[in-house]
Amino acid sequence: MNIHEYQAKAILRKYGVAVPDGEVAFSADEAVKVAERFGGRAVVKAQIHAGGRGKAGGVKLAKSLDDVRGYADELLGKTLVTHQTGPEGKVVKRLLIESLTAIQKEYYIGLVVDRGAGRVVMMASEEGGMEIEEVAAHSPEKIVRETIDPAVGLRPFQARRLAYAIHIPGELVNKAAAFMSALYRAFVDNDCAIAEINPLVVTGDGNVLALDAKLNFDANALYRHKDILALRDLDEEDPRDVEASRFDLTYIALHGNIGCLVNGAGLAMATMDTIKFYGGEPANFLDVGGGASEEKVTEAFKIILSDSGVKGILVNIFGGIMKCDIIANAVVAASRQVELDRPLVVRLEGTNVELGKQILQTSGLKIASADSLAEAAQKIIELVK
Ligand code: GDP
Ligand code: MN
Repeated sequence: MNIHEYQAKAILRKYGVAVPDGEVAFSADEAVKVAERFGGRAVVKAQIHAGGRGKAGGVKLAKSLDDVRGYADELLGKTLVTHQTGPEGKVVKRLLIESLTAIQKEYYIGLVVDRGAGRVVMMASEEGGMEIEEVAAHSPEKIVRETIDPAVGLRPFQARRLAYAIHIPGELVNKAAAFMSALYRAFVDNDCAIAEINPLVVTGDGNVLALDAKLNFDANALYRHKDILALRDLDEEDPRDVEASRFDLTYIALHGNIGCLVNGAGLAMATMDTIKFYGGEPANFLDVGGGASEEKVTEAFKIILSDSGVKGILVNIFGGIMKCDIIANAVVAASRQVELDRPLVVRLEGTNVELGKQILQTSGLKIASADSLAEAAQKIIELVK
């Protein structure tokens, strides 16, 4: 789960990570009010769940309160298109108003979970302000890393080694190291999956601070962070993802034309592989989980069908905990309720499979049945042609 920059900075501030003074604003009046504290010399930053705002005109440097009002009016309600938003862009509904920082140099600091090592890794680079992927592509030697032992955390020598490696001015190395340690504590305490400070800046008056902050949280740990869960901004998420999570479905949109409804992540992967093996393209990954109730199947159908690219659906369900006849009834009821207008192939296997197939056959609906996954995949590919 992502949160806004101003929310991330509020969390980081609590951990002693240096960030500029600032506040969120939902209107031009609020923006001006915040900027009064800084005598009008403020940064006006669009708050959307995407980076690349600077290049897209979403970060404005104001010299007066009139500037602040002008920029706030311009940005609020505007659809900002950055290289991370996709062509449809994101509507700006909130602004972060911050005191202006006199940047001397920009750096990069990131924390990620390295699954190979099973540890958190801190990455740093002197190429701040740029996409880290870009740096990795053209000058990978400019990215330095420290793998962190969870038993002891980021050790001071590791932080200093990173600071020296990215050429933080000598007199600011200790400040930078303290910054890194605080960032690491915030990361671990809040079960983050990613923390990215791009740029970290040093200023003319000897400060080291996070000019930008991106925090991403491990969704599986949110149950123990109610305060963070409360920061979720549904406006920023794909409506289909939001619907799916409401019904406890795991849905990921893809670019093909065959909608997939499957129970179990492994079976869903196998289903997508089999479709691809026979020359088709899956439109999504969708795991309805163990208890595929009628309600869940109906919601899953609705989500799949809301994708206009979907030309047909393949249902592949293993009736283990849930019996095949119950699933068949759910599929029939869901098809009726959503007035299914596209070809549907169902492959059932498991407990009460004969009864399940009979229910599908006698339903009067145009549902093609298949005995094996291979057969099901070939059938739906033929039908969507
Ligand atoms: P992003 O483009 O979405 O990653 O947004 P950032 O928060 O990283 O801002 C983009 C760029 O705006 C930064 O790399 C800075 O160069 C510039 N910027 C942001 N805040 C300030 C500031 O207070 N002073 C100055 N001079 N530049 C700033
Ligand atoms: Mn940035």
